[in-house]
Amino acid sequence: MNISPRLSQISPSLTLEITGKAKALKKEGIDIISFAAGEPDFDTPAHICAAARDAIDRGKTRYTPAKGMPELIAAVREKFQRDNNLDYPASSIIISCGAKHSLYNVFQAICREGDEVIIPSPYWVTYPEQVRLAGAEPVFLDSVEEDGFPIDRDRLVSLITPRTRAMIVSSPANPSGSGYSRDDLEFLAGLAVENDFYLISDEIYEKLVYDGFEAISIASLSRDIQDRTIVINGVSKSYAMTGWRIGYMAAPENVAQAISSFQSHSTSGPATPSQYAALEALTGDQSCVEEMRRAFEERRVLMIERLNRIEGISCTMPKGAFYAFPNISALGKPSLELAANLLDQARIAVVPGIAFGADGNIRMSYADSIENLNKGLDRLAEFVRKN
Ligand code: PMP
Ligand code: GLU
Repeated sequence: MNISPRLSQISPSLTLEITGKAKALKKEGIDIISFAAGEPDFDTPAHICAAARDAIDRGKTRYTPAKGMPELIAAVREKFQRDNNLDYPASSIIISCGAKHSLYNVFQAICREGDEVIIPSPYWVTYPEQVRLAGAEPVFLDSVEEDGFPIDRDRLVSLITPRTRAMIVSSPANPSGSGYSRDDLEFLAGLAVENDFYLISDEIYEKLVYDGFEAISIASLSRDIQDRTIVINGVSKSYAMTGWRIGYMAAPENVAQAISSFQSHSTSGPATPSQYAALEALTGDQSCVEEMRRAFEERRVLMIERLNRIEGISCTMPKGAFYAFPNISALGKPSLELAANLLDQARIAVVPGIAFGADGNIRMSYADSIENLNKGLDRLAEFVRKN
């Protein structure tokens, strides 16, 4: 029997697949350096783990409301006020099983059959698939690498049609680490109002920014913009909590209401101990966030400088997140083939740029120790020298 046509076109997440493959090889005892991981290498801070243990000991192991527990919703409201100068009523906030799940819910809630969603490229692998799963069509907005992947304003204007339903705003972005200025955001916001579409602002990397770059939430530009923006965030990246699976969003009330009902028939509320952990993450000591950011900043400089010293490779300096996105087109191989060769011959795992719509690049995460980064970069340099 066939599977539904809806799912037959969906490819697996290459980022998760390659990370999994590298972990499995390591477990077999093979000496792999993985640059594939889309997650911090740090353990979840101890006070956050303790809060989850304590919740379990206190018997907090039953269902919460489907949209998340009220204490966590209150903490998310406060977070938006504190960090983003955004006021939301509790009814606008939904807690989900990771930001990926929040995004999935949003596309299901707002997309109609045949709608178009504009996605700046290079893009995170999951956006187009989630758009397609909601019956809409991804429309890609290419950007120029040399200048750090900025928004091409003329091109963006040319992509807008009466079917444009939403645009993804991701600053800093995965995989390129590019980021938008206030002026860029004002331009995007103006287009959204003029052409009446939603902005989906993925702010999952907002805390991981460097060289004084500030991640501004586009929703905070004005009340009008807030009313057409859905803000996505979560604890995975800022607090090294990828496995806990807690994300959240803030949306206009009608969208949030629809998602709350939808979620009540799909996952119900996220895991209760994880919600207690996220509550501690958002309300407890915040110094861990800055400590991890500093470590990433140091590794970023090492990684980009070393990549640019390899002949045939060039890399722009990312403004945020924890990925380098070097250009490898001068090496003369499609990214998928290069990634396969690197794994087989150099024992390093990278994600081919094709997964993000950029076949001339590979993604290398610098969420690893300086020692491992150096070891992996030695292997890459040696591989390029020999090939
Ligand atoms: N958005 C982006 C851009 C990401 O890189 C990720 C990481 N997978 C997510 C959303 C989802 O994060 P999570 O589901 O772990 O909260
Ligand atoms: N965001 C990470 C990445 O891009 C995690 C993996 C995933 O969820 O796709 O690698």
